[in-house]
Amino acid sequence: MAPKLTRAERLAMPLARDVVRDLAVEHGGCVRPVQLRRTDLESGRITQVLVPCGHTLASVCPSCADRAKNLRAAQCREGWHLEAEPVIEPDPADDVQRTWIEHRSETQQWHDRAQEAGEDTAEPAQLAAELDDVITDSGIRGKVLPARSRRRHRSTRRRQDAPDLPRRPITPGTLGRVYTGPDGRTYRPSMFITLTCPSYGAVRSDGTPANPNSYDYQRAARDALHFAALFDRLIQNLRRFLGYDVQYFAVIEPQRRLAPHVHIAVRGTISRADLRQVLAATYHQVWWPGTEVVRFEDGERPIWHEGSGQYVDPATGELLPTWDQALDAIGADDEPLHVVRFGERFDAKGLLAGTRDTNRAVGYLTKYLTKQLGQCHAANTGSEQDHAARLADALRYEPCSPGCANWLRYGITPANPREGMRPGHCRGKAHRREYLGYAGRRVLVSRKWSGKTLADHRADRRNWLVATLGLAVPDPSRYAWEAVRPGDTDHMPPAQRLLHVVADRRKWHAALVMARARASGLATPDLSATWQAA
Ligand SMILES: [Zn+2]
Ligand SMILES: [Zn+2]
Repeated sequence: MAPKLTRAERLAMPLARDVVRDLAVEHGGCVRPVQLRRTDLESGRITQVLVPCGHTLASVCPSCADRAKNLRAAQCREGWHLEAEPVIEPDPADDVQRTWIEHRSETQQWHDRAQEAGEDTAEPAQLAAELDDVITDSGIRGKVLPARSRRRHRSTRRRQDAPDLPRRPITPGTLGRVYTGPDGRTYRPSMFITLTCPSYGAVRSDGTPANPNSYDYQRAARDALHFAALFDRLIQNLRRFLGYDVQYFAVIEPQRRLAPHVHIAVRGTISRADLRQVLAATYHQVWWPGTEVVRFEDGERPIWHEGSGQYVDPATGELLPTWDQALDAIGADDEPLHVVRFGERFDAKGLLAGTRDTNRAVGYLTKYLTKQLGQCHAANTGSEQDHAARLADALRYEPCSPGCANWLRYGITPANPREGMRPGHCRGKAHRREYLGYAGRRVLVSRKWSGKTLADHRADRRNWLVATLGLAVPDPSRYAWEAVRPGDTDHMPPAQRLLHVVADRRKWHAALVMARARASGLATPDLSATWQAA
């Protein structure tokens, strides 16, 4: 009989569940795989397949997040120093797709003729809607008849002031300039640029304000909310200034002071002096109604009026203006609610293809992608926690979008209003702590960066694996797939799935080691027995 252990001794023993999970992570296995039932339509054989969850946050699934990060790194690396224009040509439509479009055109004519004649158009309209779905399902992008834009055409609409920059015609090319060295060798350098927000007040080395009371939290909050729009403007200006279709792979990260900054891999070069000029001329004006006057404090709230689809001031019974009315009320002499600019300090560095510096920069660009913005810098000290709380406070009542519930606080019915909107409780991601006011995408990639989508890059990796392992590519039409649900007799609880993940990954890893050894011509250990079981 085993000797009886004390409670402390028992608690010091590793927990079986944790060991399985750690092993799964160690072997790059997903810790929350999805179970699918695969039926071979020829033989009728059923196999249980565990598919990785694909989450991009390491706090949820370290292995999937790591794979997603590596995929981004491959995408970044592939586009940075491209030497030939990426080809993005859609496939020609096949006969089936063309037939559906022909059918759709006849239906449109039927509809329009019926309308002209004042007849009922319900039937052709219904058919057209069904055909639109069929057309999409057949693998055609976009709509044959784009929905009529409901954009407002206001005479008073403000345009963004034109930037003070020399403007060159933009050529369609996406490649940077080639330089020839004295030895006749050619170089096609690219850039790694880091741009920050302006100062909101002096900060200490831990990123917290030297004087929290004078630190401009409102400006910090608004700059974060509109950072994505500012980035867009920068790219437009860079393209105009440099005169070619500049391509980029950009990652938004937080600084220690919790303000967003952006690392940008740019294809082609720009001098520091030129970049400074473009930055000085780059800003984004936010033409939103003013928020100086709070009409409804925390306790009081406008109420929903079903008939008008607007909110009402309960004290006066007066309807609050709609979003469009509030925009129309912005006068010719009014200032924009906010103007976003980059800070004066920036970092710019030229890089050549395949160098160690470039590899390091790719690693740097993708380093924090497995964490949420608010998790990149943990708030440990009291002043760090205080700083994060003050920023969250500033973001609480700041409108994040035209549809933000916070507009009610300033006496305006938000865009697309609905019942139950409460200022200070907008569901927009920008107000949540972990987003630090920036709710946009973490990775921003221009369309002609590598000429491939993320799915294409994923397929590249899969094809490499299949080729390395010498596997036969299965015919996808041979299998039917279904999700396995709790309650199904073959449903595996998470703990059981995790055991399979560990076993599968170990076999898979052994097979890869063997394939690599074979490829390099080294003697191979006999692992065939192990691999067969996979
Ligand atoms: Zn996973
Ligand atoms: Zn909001």
